[in-house]
Amino acid sequence: MADTDVQVAALHAALENVADRLAEEKTYLTDLDSAIGDADHGANMNRGFQTVLEQTAGMDGDPSEIVKAAGKAILSEVGGAAGPLYGGSIMMASGELDEGITAETTVAFAETYLEKLQDRGGAEVGQKTMVDAVTPAVHTYKKSIEQDDLPPLEALAKAVDAAERGVNFTVPLRATKGRASYLGWRSVGHQDPGATSTLFILEELLKTAREFLDGDLDPDTHDATSPTIPDDGADEEA
Ligand code: ADP
Ligand code: MG
Repeated sequence: MADTDVQVAALHAALENVADRLAEEKTYLTDLDSAIGDADHGANMNRGFQTVLEQTAGMDGDPSEIVKAAGKAILSEVGGAAGPLYGGSIMMASGELDEGITAETTVAFAETYLEKLQDRGGAEVGQKTMVDAVTPAVHTYKKSIEQDDLPPLEALAKAVDAAERGVNFTVPLRATKGRASYLGWRSVGHQDPGATSTLFILEELLKTAREFLDGDLDPDTHDATSPTIPDDGADEEA
């Protein structure tokens, strides 16, 4: 029970950190989108996550319900390409967290998120979209947990590094999906906004995971009873 409380507290903290970060980066993301799109990505993501905070405030049920509500808020509030892609994929992947937040369930969440993103958007790696950041992040996270047996925090740190390389990889690409594809070769030399917001979100998830898994949590701020989240160890009891 306490474990679920901590997971819920960690989730709320993560959503707050992401919302704060996207508010800070609003102008930057909009600048990126003005170069190869319609200059709304920063406003979209900021508005979307402010709505997430409103819609999830005070929720204390299952972690998967909170994540689902967050996806729903993004889906309903953010239009354009990014809203359905982020919101719909988060919603559909949220069921993977029905058993709580563990190394195993977060790998499943990440894989399903990528799968749904590609089902909806139809983009492959190399088309200059958020898929270019999500794909290496998900593959690196899964490999780090399942093959390299790394602790979730280290696996997530490696996933963030992989996402960052993915973001840099978008710069020289010619966009062949989404609004940026209308520019054809003129999209070359610009960093993809959606890949960049993906990286920011992952960085904030890592920052939050560090606070909670390293025990730096201030219980007064986050209402948590214990600064630990079960990782692989939780499975060993079964
Ligand atoms: P819009 O393009 O409708 O204005 P946003 O500006 O909020 O929406 O989001 C743009 C971002 O959406 C792009 O930078 C790209 O990463 C992502 N994107 C667009 N189309 C796709 C797609 N088909 N698959 C994956 N990501 C996409
Ligand atoms: Mg746009």
